[in-house]
Amino acid sequence: MQVRDGGRRQGLSRRRALHVITGGLAATASFSAVEAGKALAVPLPGVKPELEAASGVPLPGTKPQWVDEGLSREVRTIAFEHQWTGEKLNVPYYEHGHVLIDALAEIDHILRDSRNGQTHPTDPAMLDILVAMRQRLGTDAPFYVVCGYRSPETNEMLAEQGGGVAKNSYHMAGKAIDIRMPNRDTATMRAVALDLQAGGVGYYGRSNFLHIDSGPVRSWT
Ligand SMILES: [Zn+2]
Repeated sequence: MQVRDGGRRQGLSRRRALHVITGGLAATASFSAVEAGKALAVPLPGVKPELEAASGVPLPGTKPQWVDEGLSREVRTIAFEHQWTGEKLNVPYYEHGHVLIDALAEIDHILRDSRNGQTHPTDPAMLDILVAMRQRLGTDAPFYVVCGYRSPETNEMLAEQGGGVAKNSYHMAGKAIDIRMPNRDTATMRAVALDLQAGGVGYYGRSNFLHIDSGPVRSWT
């Protein structure tokens, strides 16, 4: 996959017109009062430690077959609403065989470590998985982001707090995301993700989110 330089001014302004970023919890009506009242540094109650890195390392250079079979080569668009920052993003990140660097920068920003603001390059393969999921779920609704990138500092902190957080979590590589949706239940999302056989799928029913990553195919609950 080629990466296109983001310097084309026309394309840039057009893409900017296609999405909006808003700040503040008030912008997200779906926040519960409990969630909105939590400080960013406090983890969600009941969030279980993750074991996503337990199964090894992704094979370099491999690309799941379903990407070519099921995804548009024209335009791929992703939409996020962050559960902690309230930020929203709806942006095409891929057009005509090219990943759009400026779109990726905006995605990196909204998926940043919300505890310390650190960013990390997001793996486009992970975005492709999300696009394929949305396609199969038959919705254009945004993914609610519970956790995107996790800095080494935050990962260490979580590991010390709860234990069991993977030392080399894919969250630390920009390859993992914890999500839910406004209009699809998490169990349905899980079934669709498992069917894709595209990467890691972790189901956290009690906390009502799904872990998705672009590592090797595996699953856990
Ligand atoms: Zn996760």
